[in-house]
Amino acid sequence: MDLEVWACPVCGSTLEETVNGLRCSDEDRVFRTAGGLPVLLRPEEEPLLQDAESHASAWKRDRYAPPRDRVADLPYVAGATWAQKARSLEALVRLLGPASGRRIVDVGAGTGWLSRRLSERGFRCYAVDLSSDTEVGLGAADTPKGEQVFDRAIGALERWPLRDDCVDVAICNASLHYIADVGPVIAEAARVLRRDGVFFTMNDPVHVDSESAVRASHDFRDRLIREGGQGRLVDRHRHFVASTLEADLRRRFSQVTRYDPDYGFRFQFVRRVKSFVLGMELASFPIYIASKG
Ligand SMILES: [Zn+2]
Repeated sequence: MDLEVWACPVCGSTLEETVNGLRCSDEDRVFRTAGGLPVLLRPEEEPLLQDAESHASAWKRDRYAPPRDRVADLPYVAGATWAQKARSLEALVRLLGPASGRRIVDVGAGTGWLSRRLSERGFRCYAVDLSSDTEVGLGAADTPKGEQVFDRAIGALERWPLRDDCVDVAICNASLHYIADVGPVIAEAARVLRRDGVFFTMNDPVHVDSESAVRASHDFRDRLIREGGQGRLVDRHRHFVASTLEADLRRRFSQVTRYDPDYGFRFQFVRRVKSFVLGMELASFPIYIASKG
């Protein structure tokens, strides 16, 4: 663990390693581990772990879930969703440019596939997620030999267990849409980023039309509930309206740019046909690039 970056989620102080786990250097507080990962949550966030477990068990049954025996190959696996995610990764890599020793925090990292791919390109990555699940959560990044390719910790979107001004890049990859109010999440990105840092959001479903956003969001929630999901991660799942998300980003970042990666003719064509048949606008998956300017 890179203790120059990780911090106590309660008071923001530095952490130290003890035989019992990570300890806040300012309080008499030791953080337990789950699946070998430190649980860096505020006490009031502990119930979220149960919700994350319920969501993980439903998500595993979903048709868009990562294939369990191919986690190491993500996002380069079969399926239109993963082909789209692979293109979003390629677009992100182009936007990021050379690693140059930069630190990236990946919040709501799921299996950690993005952190793995960015680590391979020389970035120093810190993955945070509520789930330690070995198929869809951070436990999926365990390696047979136990070596750490990137740092991992259990943490919440609302409170990132990181010091102020400590990373160059913050990324929410397909995670912002699991939260009802993105304001505190965007504020956390602004807090942990250095002055010239950049915040990227990607792979969130975004609509122009608010009715389509509500309808698509209900459809997805109903699907997860049918698969046995319950709790806040399911209840809070939503699709975004572009203008609202952009306004929320602008509250903390003076420069906000929308970039729409080329997801390919096939992806666009299938979406257009589906949109026509369903009589609604289907989501787009833009990358937002936000900086303090
Ligand atoms: Zn503390």
